[in-house]
Amino acid sequence: MFSLNQFPLQFAENELVPYMSEQTLKCHHGRHLATYIKNLNDLITATKYADMPLIEIIKKSANDDSAKKIFNNAAQVFNHDFFFRCLAPRGGGAPIAEIANAFDGADNFKSEFKSAAIGLFGSGWTWVIYDKGTFKITTTANADTPIAHGMTPILALDVWEHAYYLDYQNRRADFIDAFLNNMVNWDFVKENIQK
Ligand code: MN
Repeated sequence: MFSLNQFPLQFAENELVPYMSEQTLKCHHGRHLATYIKNLNDLITATKYADMPLIEIIKKSANDDSAKKIFNNAAQVFNHDFFFRCLAPRGGGAPIAEIANAFDGADNFKSEFKSAAIGLFGSGWTWVIYDKGTFKITTTANADTPIAHGMTPILALDVWEHAYYLDYQNRRADFIDAFLNNMVNWDFVKENIQK
């Protein structure tokens, strides 16, 4: 069984103001993530998934047609925890050298990441992943996650409307700019690269 306490925010809910409101974090972390956790617990009870670690649930349920709901909720728990760790007060700004170098410079990285995040139709995620020796920017739809495809996530942005609608309404591009310029936790990105 999983609990929200296993996936705490690394900062106070008001520390990302004005780029992300306290209300958004209360709703997104305290309600959306909490609901994915509750649904996952309810779905795995008395199944072969009940005692597996989260990553194993994701990998096994990804190839199990009878476990779509388990996959969706498990993947959303992982994706959200990873995304919230990608945020930091006074974050953003110049990417770390590993990322700038991998994408032909800081400006080019930001513009490629932004294009991918804007171009994702509907709900989903924009990622920097590490796959077969290279860094790539990619998107996944709905709950899908790089973990299910054997890729290593490095950076994630939630572009489901619930991630930004209270603060930016329909202006997804402004949310992406605020993420890149003011919220990315580059220390966490660096840890992911070093792993
Ligand atoms: Mn979300």
